[in-house]
Amino acid sequence: MLWHKIPDLESLKLYLTELFVRQQIPHALLFKGEEGGAALPLALGYMQLLYCDNPHNNFPCGICKSCKQTENLFYPGFHFVLPKFSQSTQKSEGSEDSDLLKIFYSIFKENIFLTFDDVLKDAKGKNKQAFISVQEVHQIIESVSYSAIGNKYNIVCIWNPEYMQPAAANKLLKTLEEPPPQTLFFLICSRPEELLATILSRVQKIEVPKFNDKDVVDYLIINYQVEPSKAQEIAMICQGNINKAIQILLHYDEYIALLDDFREFARLAIKYDVNGIEQWMRNYESAGREAFKRFLEYALDILHYAIMQNYQLPQLIRTTQHEKAFISKFYPYVHFNNMEKLYDLFNTAYNNVSRNTNLRITMSELFLRCNELLKKNTTNVKN
Ligand SMILES: [Zn+2]
Repeated sequence: MLWHKIPDLESLKLYLTELFVRQQIPHALLFKGEEGGAALPLALGYMQLLYCDNPHNNFPCGICKSCKQTENLFYPGFHFVLPKFSQSTQKSEGSEDSDLLKIFYSIFKENIFLTFDDVLKDAKGKNKQAFISVQEVHQIIESVSYSAIGNKYNIVCIWNPEYMQPAAANKLLKTLEEPPPQTLFFLICSRPEELLATILSRVQKIEVPKFNDKDVVDYLIINYQVEPSKAQEIAMICQGNINKAIQILLHYDEYIALLDDFREFARLAIKYDVNGIEQWMRNYESAGREAFKRFLEYALDILHYAIMQNYQLPQLIRTTQHEKAFISKFYPYVHFNNMEKLYDLFNTAYNNVSRNTNLRITMSELFLRCNELLKKNTTNVKN
């Protein structure tokens, strides 16, 4: 069962269990936590506990008929909603939307800390904008208007409610104002500030914290049989995000090579080496869009750490020893006068690459702008 697979967070699990035991579960809970963290499995694990016929020591028993069903995220009265590509609520075989759900279930079986980006990566329509439509919300509210089975709840789990269209959000708001009986809404969300304030005022927020380094290390050792020293290195980089730790582990050699790629890119941009960048770009063109997205994410981390070094906050630099050595030389190039522009530049490049724009144009722009921006600071930043 899911709660057994989530390291630590015992006090949060206990708090949720007590709400259940005292029959005081608010009709809408918002599980707030970063993507790739525990918010999703915690909420779905809570669903398993609430449906279990015979909970044991505040955990779902794992052997009753209900547990067998919820193990596969299925139960009559349980509805799982994620953003889709179309208005359609039909889950017809072969459609891009049924593809999304299928991808979700297949990744979730392997990695309960998955992100919506992980799902999109493999989806057929990945270049389209995903959203939660008013039709979808309407249909779900219709289906929970029937009474729940036995003394159990209807549970509606909305993953990434930030993707709700305005009409869908308003429809949900009306329902939260007058909730159907025996129905619980779980919103699983990393950016609640993007939700309507009126929705936020009607949900109880559960802050789902990051994991600590030890949790991540143990998780990697137990679930992926990683060497302790390697697990510690990954935990250092991933900052309490288990999904990030898993992604680094699965692409470990590529992660290690990213530092060389970034070092080379910065060197070529500073020197304005056009022939060199041509070769560099060809390498990334053949590695592909996802590899280049990982490079851009990595570059944003390095820029962030260079700033931390500039502001003499080395305790906030969470990198490998090699990265630390590089940052100690690179940091004078990233400072108060250019950091915002650099962040914008790499963020925009990331968004462009995600939207399937021309890879070469994005890379060329990045090179030219970095040539302008990456200059050692010559003014006193503290003025
Ligand atoms: Zn059970």
